[in-house]
Amino acid sequence: MGKIIGIDLGTTNSLAAVWQDGRSRLIPNSFGEYLTPSVVSMGEEGIVYVGKTAKERLISHPNRTISVFKRFMGTGKIYELGGKEYRAEELSALVLRKLKEDAERYLGEPVEEAVVSVPAYFNDMARKATKAAGELSGLQVERIINEPSAAALACHIRNREEDETFLVFDFGGGTLDVSLVDCFDNIIEITAVSGDNHLGGSDFDRMIAEEFCKEHNLNFSELSRQRQEVLLESAARAKCTLTEKNDTVMQVSGREFKGQMKINNKKLIQISMPLFRRMAIPIKKVMYDADKNMLEISKIILVGGSCKMPSVQQYLRHMEGEHKIIVAEPDYMVALGVGIYAGIKERKDDVKDLLLTDICPFTLGTGIQNEADIGRPVMSAVIERNSALPCSKVKRFFTANDYQRHVKIDVYQGEEYYVDNNICLGEINVDVPPAPRGHESVTVRYTYDMNGILIVDVKVDSTKEEVQRIMTTGADTIQPEKIEQYIEELEKLKFYPANQEENQMVSAWGERLFAQASGVLREEIAGRLQYFQHLLQVEQDTYKIKKWKKKLESYFRNIEEHLRNTDVYEMPEDIDLWFRENSDKEDELEEEYFLWCDGHLTH
Ligand code: ADP
Ligand code: MG
Repeated sequence: MGKIIGIDLGTTNSLAAVWQDGRSRLIPNSFGEYLTPSVVSMGEEGIVYVGKTAKERLISHPNRTISVFKRFMGTGKIYELGGKEYRAEELSALVLRKLKEDAERYLGEPVEEAVVSVPAYFNDMARKATKAAGELSGLQVERIINEPSAAALACHIRNREEDETFLVFDFGGGTLDVSLVDCFDNIIEITAVSGDNHLGGSDFDRMIAEEFCKEHNLNFSELSRQRQEVLLESAARAKCTLTEKNDTVMQVSGREFKGQMKINNKKLIQISMPLFRRMAIPIKKVMYDADKNMLEISKIILVGGSCKMPSVQQYLRHMEGEHKIIVAEPDYMVALGVGIYAGIKERKDDVKDLLLTDICPFTLGTGIQNEADIGRPVMSAVIERNSALPCSKVKRFFTANDYQRHVKIDVYQGEEYYVDNNICLGEINVDVPPAPRGHESVTVRYTYDMNGILIVDVKVDSTKEEVQRIMTTGADTIQPEKIEQYIEELEKLKFYPANQEENQMVSAWGERLFAQASGVLREEIAGRLQYFQHLLQVEQDTYKIKKWKKKLESYFRNIEEHLRNTDVYEMPEDIDLWFRENSDKEDELEEEYFLWCDGHLTH
């Protein structure tokens, strides 16, 4: 049997972990980094880029690059990429495939199975889509685990002795998840979850970008996709700089427009006040749902990239008290937790006794007749949200009309009063003997398991007729019988061999800077990139390629640095001189490059 790995398939970044030598270890990708951006890009020749290289292409090839697709898992949304259509689960499959390959290389053995974490708010369809994505990537995904539960597991394992109740505040790129965790003995119980599916780091980027537009008389939503990406990237960069120091200058150096905006943490708070207000709501909601007060909570553990923001930490300290806020490896907590779960699944001695219980994050119910408005049935809950899993609940329903012959049980998920505002998962129809209203009844049982699979049984009480259905119809995801076909399609895609990935990444980096830069600098970047392509494709001299790649990297770093730190966004006139000052002098390859540029390259 191959190894089981744990995967945090994030909206912004994905990570893999494995249980090894008695602990959960993160698996580095081919760049030696733990975070792999969840971005997919398609090259002109049908070549697929995944991760860091693809992220670089967001700006240079906005129409051929897709990010933030996790949100649309299981919705049937179709993305167009390089003339072909893809679903979010196929794009996720490409990310999973990359993580699988990197893991296999790192572990030196095949990986066939993965435990994958998903947001607690993921509905049935999104969970099924996640499993389908696993299958498409060649990974069996038997177990799906909620992200906050994974984070809780990782937190608890650090101080295993203590029985405690704590909150996990997971603030990522696009979502906020808050969960209440009870730990006693070896049982970790998630007792309530809440969150905001549309609140995350990217909202801060957007706020900053819009403020920039306001100060420069632009209208963000009227800008082209590429301009928007350029602005959002600069905004995200400014935001991350504010984690390190208190003020910075947001630099935008596009071809068509340039500009700068001073920003410090205070200004960031001012322009994103509405976001801060929304952050407090899910905390209140979980406390209310679990019927707890803040005094019973020992700590709040901050997880997710956006928790690195000093303003976020400050705000929570202000709201909940200094001593309660714990920030420990916010980027890695979820992945480390799924890694532990992979260990539990492999029944590794050190963790096999840990028991993680989960809860159903939403209400599951059925529509019942609404006397006040016959056309709009209302929700009758069968399984209440935050019920512990696995769980099985029974409810009896009576006929609503005289001599009705059929009873239809619609299955809904959601918290809204009117069923049409909730998600319909499917329906079951049964026949009942005709009788006056209220004289016939059906007993309905909902069984919801740890993997988020819902089974509904309907029994007609008088005739004892029984119907059972596994709720899959509503799932607008790839059907199991179609998986093979999809796999074939994905297999036609070309991937860059891992040993060339770094070269590709440097090229993509250069293309992005090219898209951002202007004037002489732009030409300079283009020349150096072309020379790199020339070395890769024509000369194919490994030594030279390596050396030039290193030079390019330091050159690009210098450019980034320059753009970030100077108040003058124009590049120095004498770009060659500037570059030479910033790189090693008297370099043969540099000379060769200039010769090549002049068309005098000789062998
Ligand atoms: P997800 O779980 O959605 O994949 P992550 O937990 O990886 O997301 O968080 C990604 C978000 O964190 C992004 O919006 C990113 O801009 C933000 N982020 C990452 N590092 C920092 C930092 N140093 N300062 C501020 N925000 C950061
Ligand atoms: Mg996350």
